[in-house]
Amino acid sequence: MDEPHCQRCGTCCRNGGPALHSEDAVLYRDQILQKKHLLTLRRGEWVYDNVQGRVEPLEQEILRVAGKTGSQVCIFFQDSACACAIYARRPLECRTLNCQAPEALASLYAHERLTRFDLIAADSGLGELMTWHETVCAYSQIADVCARLRAGNDPKARQELEAIVRKDINARQTLREKGALDEQSLRFVFGRPCTETLPAFGVRVVADRETVQFLV
Ligand code: SF4
Ligand code: SF4
Repeated sequence: MDEPHCQRCGTCCRNGGPALHSEDAVLYRDQILQKKHLLTLRRGEWVYDNVQGRVEPLEQEILRVAGKTGSQVCIFFQDSACACAIYARRPLECRTLNCQAPEALASLYAHERLTRFDLIAADSGLGELMTWHETVCAYSQIADVCARLRAGNDPKARQELEAIVRKDINARQTLREKGALDEQSLRFVFGRPCTETLPAFGVRVVADRETVQFLV
């Protein structure tokens, strides 16, 4: 029987960019993958796990190739040519995936996953900011505060969540104002904004630097 082989139809690329593993760190060092191409999914954040087939909070941080703005199509997928812009240097999961033989990708699931802390030195200015943000905007804390807020019997919960959302907004705004990072790169450095991820915890807010408005 013929070995299953990839037809290069692009369906998997349209379903999202790959998670990264230790073998992919060289792609960042060679600037094939840059901050603007990457998305951090932080520990405790609710995400769809396409191997497990369900939405659940992440046990460990994941770094993945981002989708195009407003879509989950991999940022490197070229629709008109149905091709990968970095095919010769595509990440490990892309080289491994064959939808007709998915076992190989499934076996990579927990293999030496890369995080932003593998790429940014912890003692650099950016590394220190990432560590601070991870401490003050931790999803373990957010889950606890949101549960208390939903229960409706803890008057401090709203203030605490407001403070977390403000710190998340201010950290991003500070780097934006310095011209240090663009919008997409901020999603690598700090992950998705809390305002985007809170609905998975049962709380909706709209916020800017001055106001945090609760929609529950
Ligand atoms: S792995 Fe499957 S879905 Fe992905 S490009 Fe190849 S044939 Fe298409
Ligand atoms: S990096 Fe290339 S092969 Fe991998 S999902 Fe994106 S477009 Fe597809």
